[in-house]
Amino acid sequence: MIEFRDVHKYYGDYHALRGINGTIREGEFFSLLGPSGCGKTTLLRTIAGFEDISSGVVLLDGKDTAGVPANKRPTNMVFQSYAFFPHLTVEENVGFGLRKDPRPATEKAKAVAEALEMVGLKGYGKRAAHALSGGQRQRVALARALILKPKVLLLDEPLSALDKKMREQMQVELIRLQRQVGITFILVTHDQEEALVMSDRIAVMFEGEIAQLADPETLYRRPNSRKVANFIGTMNFMPAKIISESGDTVEVESQGFGKLTLTAGQCMGIPSAEAPAIGFRPETLTILFDGQQPQDRDSMATVEEVVYYGDMTYYDVKLDGMDQSVRISMRNVFGRPVLDIGTRARVAWSPGALVLFR
Ligand code: ADP
Ligand code: MG
Repeated sequence: MIEFRDVHKYYGDYHALRGINGTIREGEFFSLLGPSGCGKTTLLRTIAGFEDISSGVVLLDGKDTAGVPANKRPTNMVFQSYAFFPHLTVEENVGFGLRKDPRPATEKAKAVAEALEMVGLKGYGKRAAHALSGGQRQRVALARALILKPKVLLLDEPLSALDKKMREQMQVELIRLQRQVGITFILVTHDQEEALVMSDRIAVMFEGEIAQLADPETLYRRPNSRKVANFIGTMNFMPAKIISESGDTVEVESQGFGKLTLTAGQCMGIPSAEAPAIGFRPETLTILFDGQQPQDRDSMATVEEVVYYGDMTYYDVKLDGMDQSVRISMRNVFGRPVLDIGTRARVAWSPGALVLFR
C-alpha cells in the first residue's frame, strides 16, 4: 500500500528523515514507534502529503506521490487533539467532510449514522459536540475521517491525551474498528505497550531512521540491537565472551550461565562498539517454588530486591557467579509467598531464551 525508498527530509539544516526504506501492506495495522522527536510525525505527514520530502520516493497504492496534493491522496488523518466545531452537533461535525459531496441529504445522513455506529456513538448524533468527553471526541474524529472512505487512515498519537483506562478501552476499539473496515491504519505512538498491543507490524524509529521493522513478537524476542531491546520492554544484559564461532553456532561464556552454545538465530546482528552481552527478558527466568523441577537448566541465586505489583512481583536476583543482579518477573499465584530480600532461591532458565548482542 505504501513504500518508502530512501526517503530523506531536511528542515533547513536539520536532517529529520535519514534514508527511510520499508513497505506498509494493504489492510495492516502498522505503527511508527519511537521517542519524541525521532521523526514519526514527519514520516506520517509525508504519506498524507502535508510535508514534501527532500529526496527519495514515497509510493502510495503503487503510484509515486511526488507532486500529488494532500486532498488528492486516498488518505485521511486523525490528530491527537481533534479540532472540531463545538457549536455544532455530533452529526454536523461528522458530516462536515461531506459538505461538497453531491449525494442527496438523506444518503449523507445515512452515511453519518453508519459512521457513528461504527465508532460506538450510535444515538449521539443530536448531542452538542462540546458536551462530549475526551474519548467521545476521539470517536467523533475517527467517524469524521472514516466517512470519507480513505484507503489509509493516519493516526498521530490519537490516544495520548486520554487517561489510562480510557486509552486501553480505545485501543481495543481501534483494533476492532480496523478489522471491521479492513483499511490500512498507520498509528504514530511513543508508547511501546500500545504499539505491541495494537499492531500487525511496527517500525521502531530513532533519530530519523528505522532501526527495526517487524511484527511485535519478533521485536520483543529478537530485537536487532540493544537500543531496540531497551526501548521495548525490559532487557537484562550480562557481559559475555565469545569463545568460538563456527557455521551456525557460537560458543559463549557468561557470568552465571557458564559456557553456552547459541544458534545463529540467537545472535543479534549489528556488531557494536560495546562488549558482547547476553540478553534476556525478565519472564524468561523463573524462580522455582517447593519441589518444582526445571525444564532445562537451573542455578542457585540470592534475592537482592523485591518489587510487588499485585499481579506480578519483580525480583532482582544474583545468580551464583554473577557480579551484578538481573531482573526476573514472576506472576503471583494464590497461596505462594512473596520472597524476602536475602532469600536463597533456585532459578530455572533455558539457553534457548537467551540472545547474544555482539
Ligand atoms: P516525532 O513525531 O517523532 O516526535 P517529529 O517528526 O515531529 O518527531 O519531528 C522530528 C524532528 O524534526 C524534531 O527534532 C523536530 O523538532 C523537527 N521538526 C519537525 N517539524 C519541523 C519544522 N516544521 N521545522 C523545523 N524542524 C521541525
Ligand atoms: Mg509526533
